[in-house]
Amino acid sequence: EYIDVKEFCERVFDAFKLKYSDLKLNYSIEVESELYADPVLLNSVFQNLIDNAYKYSPVDRKVLEVVVQQNKKNFVITFEDKGIGIDKKEFNSIFKKFYRVKNQFNQQGSIGLGLAFCKEITEFMGGEIKVESQLGIGTIFTLTFPLDVKKL
Ligand code: ATP
Ligand code: MG
Repeated sequence: EYIDVKEFCERVFDAFKLKYSDLKLNYSIEVESELYADPVLLNSVFQNLIDNAYKYSPVDRKVLEVVVQQNKKNFVITFEDKGIGIDKKEFNSIFKKFYRVKNQFNQQGSIGLGLAFCKEITEFMGGEIKVESQLGIGTIFTLTFPLDVKKL
């Protein structure tokens, strides 16, 4: 179905603010077009990225900046945290099922499926997911969806 991206993101991110009350979640949404996507799946992708940003940030650095923009061809959604970061050599592995980075804190109840799910769903919707990160500084996940996405 066609999603009003601005309205959808505002509603979803406001709900996350309530759910993660000790996460400082800021967002900005600068889009006009609609996106052809499944809102439940898109919400689950956002949920997984926010869950990670929350889990992998120390208590005094639980900050997440979400920016939703569009250019001529794509919607571009970035999730930038100030967490523990991810080593470059892990960038491919983290998207694999059941893969988890070793020697991390705060991993109870996690099984390593979140990002594999995000990648699968994003690509199913015709989009892409990318990671940039610096250890000890933070991480940016970028979702890109073509404006004229194939109808599912
Ligand atoms: P699950 O999502 O199933 O609860 P998980 O969070 O461990 O488990 P993924 O979401 O797939 O699994 O993430 C894979 C690994 O990538 C994590 O174990 C973590 O080490 C690393 N990671 C993911 N997101 C971040 C982030 N925002 N900051 C730092 N490390 C991250
Ligand atoms: Mg996860």
